[in-house]
Amino acid sequence: MSQRTHAHVDERTARKVAEEARETEWRLPSFGKQLFLGDFRLDLIHPHPRPAGEPRRKGEEFLAKLTEFCATRIDPAVIERDARIPDDVVTGLRDLGALGMKIPEKYGGLGLSQLYYGRALMVAGSVSPALAALLSAHQSIGVPQPVKMFGTPEQQEEWLPRCARQVSAFLLTEPDVGSDPARLRATAVPDGDDYVLNGVKLWTTNGVIADLVVVMARVPKSDGHRGGISAFIVDMGTPGITVEHRNQFMGLRGIENGVTRFHDVRVPKANLIGAEGAGLKIALTTLNTGRLSLPAICAASGKWAARIAREWSKERVQWGRPVGEHEAVSRKIAFIAATAYAMEAMLDLSSQLADDERNDIRIEAALAKLWSSEMACKAADELVQLRGGRGYETAESLAARGERGVPAEQMLRDLRINRIFEGSSEIMHLLIAREAVDAHLSVAGDVIDPDASTGQKARAAAKAGGFYARWLPTLVTGAGQRPNSYAEFGALAKHLRYVERASRKLARSIFYAAGRWQGGLEYRQGFLGRMVDIGAELYAMSAVCVRAHADASAEGPVASAGAGSATAPGKSALLLADAFCGQARVRVEELFDGLWRNTDAVDVKLARAVLAGDFAWVEEGVLDPSIPGPWIASSEPGPSEKEDVHRTIG
Ligand SMILES: Cc1cc2nc3c(=O)[nH]c(=O)nc-3n(C[C@H](O)[C@H](O)[C@H](O)COP(=O)(O)OP(=O)(O)OC[C@H]3O[C@@H](n4cnc5c(N)ncnc54)[C@H](O)[C@@H]3O)c2cc1C
Repeated sequence: MSQRTHAHVDERTARKVAEEARETEWRLPSFGKQLFLGDFRLDLIHPHPRPAGEPRRKGEEFLAKLTEFCATRIDPAVIERDARIPDDVVTGLRDLGALGMKIPEKYGGLGLSQLYYGRALMVAGSVSPALAALLSAHQSIGVPQPVKMFGTPEQQEEWLPRCARQVSAFLLTEPDVGSDPARLRATAVPDGDDYVLNGVKLWTTNGVIADLVVVMARVPKSDGHRGGISAFIVDMGTPGITVEHRNQFMGLRGIENGVTRFHDVRVPKANLIGAEGAGLKIALTTLNTGRLSLPAICAASGKWAARIAREWSKERVQWGRPVGEHEAVSRKIAFIAATAYAMEAMLDLSSQLADDERNDIRIEAALAKLWSSEMACKAADELVQLRGGRGYETAESLAARGERGVPAEQMLRDLRINRIFEGSSEIMHLLIAREAVDAHLSVAGDVIDPDASTGQKARAAAKAGGFYARWLPTLVTGAGQRPNSYAEFGALAKHLRYVERASRKLARSIFYAAGRWQGGLEYRQGFLGRMVDIGAELYAMSAVCVRAHADASAEGPVASAGAGSATAPGKSALLLADAFCGQARVRVEELFDGLWRNTDAVDVKLARAVLAGDFAWVEEGVLDPSIPGPWIASSEPGPSEKEDVHRTIG
């Protein structure tokens, strides 16, 4: 039914809506943008920035309190068992100020920096990822951030003090609207001093317990109203709002995620954030830094996985040796430890750059979200594997039979959603690729636009010719080919030279692809995905080298652990960074190879045939658990009926 209702929303419209929501202005330099252009601007991220002065004092003080609270007042096993976060935990967090970490102090918040907000999410996420999800759904995408960034002074006065004490949520998704907001159905119809809101919102994290929500709804175009998708602050106490269902998931069992229905809900005009039609742009701009929350949760999981992998693999003896000494397991340990360091390096660097307002970090944050959510899942999977049967057993069961309750399988389940929400990995590939090819599109836009006139195409071709004549020669040679470049990095210099060369090679590949496929490039998702993944690995390598250089310096480590701490990195940071870069280079080489040698075209053809049902025979011979058997549908099913239902499969 929904397909019919929205038949008018074609792919072109979907792209147009996404394009209009894109922030096109670049006021600050961007390391990520330059990387895709073949211009490795190490100076934009090195020396590694460090927190200092008041932000550092405030941040450390809060982290100490939060760590103490999480260690003594929260039982993660209870959250997992009961599939909810106890009320006293939410109240305790509120009393600590954890609901207002990024809200300015003048509005009753803590006014923490992005760096310390991320570290706080790491602490909360290490106890329970559901807890970090509660805090981040409220603060990274919920009411406070868009109001802080786009609200009027009156709105900030009214809502921010409430946000520092109450939980909020962000409501965009609908049953028919996931990755494609062009299909948004919820409406907000102007009526006197109000908008009247109608619609259903799906998967609203915190929606079950929230006091305030941001709702995305479409204002119809009319006299005096430019209309479009708009963002509204809604008090959940307003008549007409029902939470119809609390959803349950494979992981994050403690989150209060629901289906929320709005029926003739009157929302005062004063609750509109920004202008009518600016809703998606507001949501995307909020996510520019908001996207760093999930990397924080991933980095926390990586650190914990590294610890468990070490402790377990040393202690468990099989075939006459600790399992960690068998090469197959050693490789997993090395991968987990190196990846954990890289996730933290990317997170901290991006956060500190955002705090310093030194760089535009929208690409770096998006790369961190994409890369960390994919790699954290791989690390969790390797942890489950190296724990053997105990990796697959729940912490509750392990504890019940007297063993240490290590929730490795839970971590794998909890992390999986990070590859889907706040931009699925497929959508992140497209979003980042759009930025990466922006330089090409902006000079050659009309050349490849099917709607452009011959005159427009000719003018665009001349402009593009000028751009490429200047740009292409810069891709031929660079610092990566000079043996003494980046010498201050010692053993890591060779990796930075590699990044510099790979960055130019990546830009050349994008140029060839743009020439080869022109406007069709945007449909080459296999190519675009690999290209973005190369960029992500290069950013990870750069962040790790810069971080290790700082961690090993006389100034001491970048993170909280004091220079004198038993586990302070010192020179060992260089070894870990060297190992990480070695691993990343193998992945980058495979990705480069895959740019031109792959089965993409064949796979697309095959998928079409699969969708057409040509290979339905491959599905035969099994039952389908998603179709209820007649023994469930009717009270007394007969054996012949059972056969009937399942015969329909295949
Ligand atoms: C636990 C949980 C919490 C959530 N919390 C919130 C929340 O607080 N607020 C909120 O608004 N939403 C929330 N969501 C929704 C979440 O953001 C969406 O699930 C997500 O955006 C993907 O949308 P979808 O599930 O409809 O998938 P679809 O958009 O239907 O996509 C299905 C698949 O197709 C791929 N795909 C789609 N379009 C393209 C394309 N153009 N090119 C290539 N691949 C494509 C997707 O990547 C995915 O793999 C939550 C979801 C879950 C499960």
